[in-house]
Amino acid sequence: MPIRPEHVFLYPIDWPQLSHHVRFVRAGGACEHCGRPHGQRVFHLRDGRWWDRKRQCWRNGQGRRVRRPTENILLQGAWTPVVLACAHLNHDPSDSALHLLAALCQRCHMLHDGPEHRRRRWRNAHYRRALGDLFYGPYPLLGAEWITPTPLSMLDGGSAFSASLR
Ligand SMILES: [Zn+2]
Repeated sequence: MPIRPEHVFLYPIDWPQLSHHVRFVRAGGACEHCGRPHGQRVFHLRDGRWWDRKRQCWRNGQGRRVRRPTENILLQGAWTPVVLACAHLNHDPSDSALHLLAALCQRCHMLHDGPEHRRRRWRNAHYRRALGDLFYGPYPLLGAEWITPTPLSMLDGGSAFSASLR
């Protein structure tokens, strides 16, 4: 995943070497969550199951062997090139301890970051509206109904998924 320009200074100076070590030395060039191999096109069903060409078996989104799909794979399946990225399990790019890094394929990376991205989007929108509060007075006086309590899904931060990676 490309590094945003405003975040580049949060990464350690040896990030390229660290990322390479995690992806290709420690993880051996395969996703540490689902096992998809880096740099190869993988045939997968859209629910995460994929064909492991090396071991000649189907695996699920957690990398476990599953039985052969019964549905029509030609209709359900698709080819995707796999690109491993080095992910921060705690979503903090300034903390690059090895146990907080994982080599993840795009799918696992998006699943891992999804709750955090949603939380940040909600928080940014909330901050922007709160700024309006400062200049135009409290929203309830203006009759704005947009103020909603923080959704529970924004509070968990996807900790269940990070725990499953460890
Ligand atoms: Zn993966």
